[in-house]
Amino acid sequence: MKAVLTVMGSGTSMGVPTIGCDCAVCTSPDPHDRRTRPSVLLEYDGHIILIDTTPDFREQALREGVRRLDAVLYTHAHADHILGLDDLRPLSFRREQRIPLYASDTVARVVRGMFRYIFDDEYRYGTMAQVEMHTVNGPLELFGARFEPVRVLHGDTEIFGYRFGSAAYLTDFSTIPEASFAQLRNLDVLFLDALRHKPHPTHSTVENSVRIVERLRPRRAFFTHICHDLPHAATNASLPPHVRLAHDGLKLEFEI
Ligand SMILES: [Zn+2]
Ligand SMILES: [Zn+2]
Repeated sequence: MKAVLTVMGSGTSMGVPTIGCDCAVCTSPDPHDRRTRPSVLLEYDGHIILIDTTPDFREQALREGVRRLDAVLYTHAHADHILGLDDLRPLSFRREQRIPLYASDTVARVVRGMFRYIFDDEYRYGTMAQVEMHTVNGPLELFGARFEPVRVLHGDTEIFGYRFGSAAYLTDFSTIPEASFAQLRNLDVLFLDALRHKPHPTHSTVENSVRIVERLRPRRAFFTHICHDLPHAATNASLPPHVRLAHDGLKLEFEI
């Protein structure tokens, strides 16, 4: 079936502009150079699924006019991917059932610890986000679509990317283990981490991600988790035509 992917955010953990920075990208007038923290939203068959709740989730959801949410998938428990969880509140109040969250065991443990007041049944003050955590170790089916965790290495930590239908979203990785390449064949859309040109211990570079695109040959590739080293227009001009920097608000159609 047809699905639409919306890029909620395409920036690094610090976002672009970065606080206190006067570089050319942080002061650029091009709106494509404004990057909130990384996340994508998927819509198909009347259902809406979010990957990661960034500290910018509130602004992203207002910008995109999000009015419902049916599930959240987590890639990993770094602050830039989970801290917006509390802002699920207004969307959770519009539903009859709690919003299901899906994460690996390790990530679920960190999220429960960080947001103890939400998951702690004893807490009676205020109105908590109505969510419930489910742990995932393998493929899961959500509203008629299959989501497969794709194991990637973020430094030496194993985290999840996800494949869903003809698309895959791999944010925050430095290496894709050989075993995971098999899950990434015949893609229409592939999202890859491409922090910058200079090597980084826990993130992929533009050059490394271009090599991954050459190997996997998706029809289209988009780079995300982009820092202020990469100006949008100039970097795109240097990339092959089917490889683009993602930008906040980008929407794509694909088959799920
Ligand atoms: Zn990140
Ligand atoms: Zn991370």
